[in-house]
Amino acid sequence: MKILIIEDEKVLANSVRLMLESRGFEAEAVYDGESGEQYAMLNIYDLIILDIMLPKQNGYQVAKHIRAAHNAVPILMLTAKSDIEDKVAGLNAGADYYLTKPFDARELLACVNALLRRQGSQVNELSFGNTRLDLESASLICEENSVRLSAREFEVMRILMVSGTNHVSKETLLTKVWGFDSNAVENHVEAYVSFLRKKLTSIGSDVRIEAVRRLGYHLECDETC
Ligand code: CA
Repeated sequence: MKILIIEDEKVLANSVRLMLESRGFEAEAVYDGESGEQYAMLNIYDLIILDIMLPKQNGYQVAKHIRAAHNAVPILMLTAKSDIEDKVAGLNAGADYYLTKPFDARELLACVNALLRRQGSQVNELSFGNTRLDLESASLICEENSVRLSAREFEVMRILMVSGTNHVSKETLLTKVWGFDSNAVENHVEAYVSFLRKKLTSIGSDVRIEAVRRLGYHLECDETC
């Protein structure tokens, strides 16, 4: 998850950046409206935290331009103003939510998570071959058969489905599913892949998790996927 912070108070911008990084997000900060807009247009961010009073171009203008470019990235607006008119103007300019300064880290994090969840809920299933992964119920579905996945099986399957025929290394799976700090080793990944293969077979799926030495795993299916 990559977050762009557009905020001219450098101390605040950097403390928000560090806080987000400590929670596992990737975050970048820029300090004026014009650079903010240029970065936002790269279309690589999952969320934008946008101040209103900014040099060169204010937050309302930045939000309007982002929306005018049909970019639907969630925008969390930061405002020192608590006037209702300012909040309405922010929402009208295309912000999804606003937070009044000063805010505390937990409040900001709760907003970030809520906006990202809302974004994620637009996609509620992934599919490959004749098989779907329901992201709400964590189930694999093939025609009328379905099977529930454990939390880790689900995470591994989700990453494989997103990558499809592209390789995902064991190392990537370890980091994304078990985290940097865990004691998990590559054997854990292999074990979970083997659970998933059994579950795929049990529902009559044509999806295969193929292993390629040194490259990792990718998906294949009988039909042209
Ligand atoms: Ca400012």
